[in-house]
Amino acid sequence: MNYYESKADTTKLVCMLCSHYCNLKEEQVGICGVNKNTGNKIECLVYGYPSALNIDPIEKKPLYHFLPNSKSLSLGTIGCNFKCSFCQNWNISQEKNIDKSRYFSPQNIVDIAKEYGCRSIAYTYNEPTIFYPYAKDIALLAKQEGIKSVFVSNGYESSELIDDMVGLIDAANIDLKSFNEAYYKKELGGDLKIVLQNLKHFVTNKIWIEVTTLIVPTKNDSDEELKDIASFIADELGVNIPWHISVFHPDYKERSLPVTPLESLQRAYDIGKKCGLSYIYMGNIPQDNNTYCRTCNAKLISREGFGASENLLVKSRCPQCDKKLEGVFE
Ligand code: SF4
Repeated sequence: MNYYESKADTTKLVCMLCSHYCNLKEEQVGICGVNKNTGNKIECLVYGYPSALNIDPIEKKPLYHFLPNSKSLSLGTIGCNFKCSFCQNWNISQEKNIDKSRYFSPQNIVDIAKEYGCRSIAYTYNEPTIFYPYAKDIALLAKQEGIKSVFVSNGYESSELIDDMVGLIDAANIDLKSFNEAYYKKELGGDLKIVLQNLKHFVTNKIWIEVTTLIVPTKNDSDEELKDIASFIADELGVNIPWHISVFHPDYKERSLPVTPLESLQRAYDIGKKCGLSYIYMGNIPQDNNTYCRTCNAKLISREGFGASENLLVKSRCPQCDKKLEGVFE
């Protein structure tokens, strides 16, 4: 894909990475703060400069139906194309200064992943769409080594970018933060319709997705809104797409809100089940987060904390009834 396009009769360039499609004049930086029109191109200023680099269990992304019990080399940069007031990673997503003290080439990243036995590389912590040129170069090299790539994203990619991911990005966890258009626009800085469209686009492009909703008290936890979210997943994406509902902790600009009560999580779970979702997982709390066969209810994957302690699948299938579990397991 072209990461940017020029506008006729002007020196402005349009960034094609995310659905903001920023139209940047020379020296101007986009909404994300990290892509800049430097004259005759748009440069990704964070290319090679991760702000965080860790080895995490894949369950921490969270991806529960993707290579369970494996390690994922996880990296993020600074910057974001959203401005969520409850951001749980605001210290990097809203940071403006790029620490250029150490450069990591795509090959360096893949070498680290190999050295530590990681089966995937996760582009996470902040919004990876905004550093896609870096993520893509890493993913291309990783693929040659049999290492998969995963995105943890707010779902605001450009549609061109989602098409570009095919064959390169193996899975994604996408946030569906609310079902309220005004809230998306005013409080998050995005467009709900585009996120919904993109979620469907991932599914039609056959990229495995799991959906996460951070349940923020008073913001998105009404029965009606939870039902709208769960119904959308069930009806438009498929009942076998996992839904992760996770606990909010007061952070960034939302320090006066309480921690999500367990009752709200249970309510979301019950609503999701009524809407027909097969796999609902509660995040950020100690809870039975095992995966059970949707046909015979046999235990398929048991989890403790963030690690999958036991994977009982036999070649992606239930050992009891042979039903295939949806996801990526090989
Ligand atoms: S990644 Fe998105 S927010 Fe950043 S410059 Fe490009 S279009 Fe704008």
